[in-house]
Amino acid sequence: KYVLIDQDIVPKEKAGIDFDDRGYHFGDGIYEVIRIYNGKPFTINQHLDRLYESAKKLDIPLSTTRETFTELINELIIKNTIETGIVYIQLTRGLQPRNHLYQREISPVLTGFAENLERKEELLTNGVDLWLTKDIRWLRCDIKTINLLGNIMAKREAADHNCHEAIMHRDGTVTEGSSSNLFLIKDSTLYTHPATNLILNGITRQVVIKLAKEAGLHVVEEAFPVDVLAIADEAFITSTTMEVTPVRSITGDVSATLEIGPITRQLQEAFKQLLP
Ligand code: PMP
Repeated sequence: KYVLIDQDIVPKEKAGIDFDDRGYHFGDGIYEVIRIYNGKPFTINQHLDRLYESAKKLDIPLSTTRETFTELINELIIKNTIETGIVYIQLTRGLQPRNHLYQREISPVLTGFAENLERKEELLTNGVDLWLTKDIRWLRCDIKTINLLGNIMAKREAADHNCHEAIMHRDGTVTEGSSSNLFLIKDSTLYTHPATNLILNGITRQVVIKLAKEAGLHVVEEAFPVDVLAIADEAFITSTTMEVTPVRSITGDVSATLEIGPITRQLQEAFKQLLP
């Protein structure tokens, strides 16, 4: 297995990580997960745009060019001979003896890996069960930070209730999943939380909104209360790894049993058409 460390791709055993990395001390860093289909990175430009945005929002100086990122990502894919999989890219603020106050002079530490990950055909066909719980995260969920404590706690809670994914609500308003965005469909209209500071604006979310509009569907980016989940016609979650995954049921703070309906199937199909 070959991994990326700074500008080098080396065997994993050779990649040393520094004790003073702010990523370890504070979760002070950002990341992206990019899907690989047919040996090619999917929507790589949108992912790199978001990486630069996250860096800017956190005041992390990022001088690596888009061309360099693209080359390194392609090299990771080739060296690891990945056909269908993911590339993970992480950037921490850099090395500094532990101190809350960060220095602006330090350089970010770039790491990454690639691995095989098949499309989840079974889940795409049969759907998943969701667990609805409180959103206990901070107020800058728009930043794709490696500091994911609220997300991982919600995910564990979901798994403990035999659910595949957690979806979250802030004071009764549905936000998003622990690692996905949520859409619901009512009377042929798609509803999803707007891209504010309270959610991560998923690349898959953006692709699906575009596909839905192109298909002539009405898309409403407005926050909705938890009770609406119980009367939805259909629902699905989106993410880089899960694509458009139908929702079968919701339990936890609300209970709902859902049909996997025609609009979800239509969007899944439209998404599939985009794959190389
Ligand atoms: N929301 C959160 C909190 C996430 O972690 C993710 C996936 N990283 C998403 C949404 C989906 O984003 P994307 O479609 O870019 O994978």
